[in-house]
Amino acid sequence: MFEPHRGRSLQGVTQVKVPRSVIVIGAGIVGASTAYELALRGVAVTLIEARGGAGLGTSYANGGQLSACEVAPWAGPEIPGLILRWLGRDDAPFRLRPKMDPEQWLWLLRFLMRCRASARAERIPPNLEIALLTRARLAAYEREIAAAGTPLDFQRKEKGILRIFRDMHALKDAEKESAIITRLGLEQKVLTPGECAALEPALASAMQRGDIAGGLYAASDSSGDAHLFSRGIADGAARLGVTIMNGTNATRILTDSEAVRGVETSQGVIDADTVVIAAGTETRALLAPFGIRSWIYPLKGYSVTLPAPEGNAPEVSITDEARKIVISRLGDRIRAAGQAEVGGYDLTLEGARARSVLDALEGVLPQTGPQRGAAEFWCGLRPMTPDGSPMIGAVPGIEGLFVNSGHGTLGWTLGPGSAAALASLICDAASQPDLSPFSINRF
Ligand SMILES: Cc1cc2nc3c(=O)[nH]c(=O)nc-3n(C[C@H](O)[C@H](O)[C@H](O)COP(=O)(O)OP(=O)(O)OC[C@H]3O[C@@H](n4cnc5c(N)ncnc54)[C@H](O)[C@@H]3O)c2cc1C
Repeated sequence: MFEPHRGRSLQGVTQVKVPRSVIVIGAGIVGASTAYELALRGVAVTLIEARGGAGLGTSYANGGQLSACEVAPWAGPEIPGLILRWLGRDDAPFRLRPKMDPEQWLWLLRFLMRCRASARAERIPPNLEIALLTRARLAAYEREIAAAGTPLDFQRKEKGILRIFRDMHALKDAEKESAIITRLGLEQKVLTPGECAALEPALASAMQRGDIAGGLYAASDSSGDAHLFSRGIADGAARLGVTIMNGTNATRILTDSEAVRGVETSQGVIDADTVVIAAGTETRALLAPFGIRSWIYPLKGYSVTLPAPEGNAPEVSITDEARKIVISRLGDRIRAAGQAEVGGYDLTLEGARARSVLDALEGVLPQTGPQRGAAEFWCGLRPMTPDGSPMIGAVPGIEGLFVNSGHGTLGWTLGPGSAAALASLICDAASQPDLSPFSINRF
């Protein structure tokens, strides 16, 4: 898909107007990477961020997994049943909080229409292609930024991701789905409970208790701290000449005759001929004045971060499919993340839901129990599209306006890849990627 092509040209002349100045709105994983990628291509970039620095929104304390082998959308045949089964429970890993909000109902309707095995399978190849681009770009960023003098340290662990299952049915289903990934060239291994514990000794007690029926191991996947990454890549972008405006709210995108001319911000108007909206769940509000629906809705999740237990903390990133949490080792800390709530933009941290992630972590790794008192809780809003793929590309009808948003449960896995693909679309006249699977008007 990302092979260069000239399909949109007339008589062999590619119609890319290389921008003079670009504003990127939002400095999460996605926006900070986009600013860096654009600056690499020699464009003048301003990165506007409402918060005090990069990576302080949803990119702050996510599950840490860079999971190319697990890029299936959240929507799937089992989800409606799971939501019903857990209805009304505070600790439900999936929760629907109905609102008097047509946006929520329209999103849910589209989402439910995607809860089919075929719809899920259809999204795996395009997502995987972006995830593989992320892999390649992360390796390049690490090289480039280290060469510029300061290493890009985001506590990356290249020990793979191990999915553990409590029953054989779930493992068999996952194996079937993973066959798509295997056919596309990424190897995953089915492990016995003993092999799971041999690979990751921190799982020994879960294995002895009979909590693990088997595992699926993706050795080529990795994990790392998305907040440290966002900060590091924003610093790298600044060294390439990007103007960073933290604490600046973009209030409106300004257009003239259906072409972008700048952004109105809390610090005044900034001129630009190109704008990229990478504002996570706020993307919707920035597009609304143009009468364009983003189809991005918040999916609230929780994480808990605590000091890693000495001696038997995991090195391999773990997905516990029964408890619905992911666990990553980040330096001398350990983080567990989970929960999915469709309930609007409210960022209140609910104690019961946050503690259920901590309880689930202790369930699988009881050795974390003594650190319970030092746990730091967090919640964030995943910018979700109904089909589990991001929106990457031009906004139809407004020249110079682009979106890179809606990465949902996969923003760390897909963010840097989507940044590279979009920067290529904006700047590289000779090698235009085909981003049609991610088009903003696909719904
Ligand atoms: C609990 C949890 C666990 C997760 N685990 C994983 C995982 O293991 N692996 C994975 O791949 N993904 C994971 N994700 C998903 C991932 O974290 C998100 O998809 C990703 O952080 C989205 O990045 P973003 O840059 O689009 O959004 P954000 O990080 O939210 O960045 C958007 C930025 O835009 C700014 N902004 C918004 N509006 C404006 C405005 N008007 N003006 C200026 N600035 C503005 C915001 O302040 C924010 O900083 C998880 C998410 C959660 C909640």
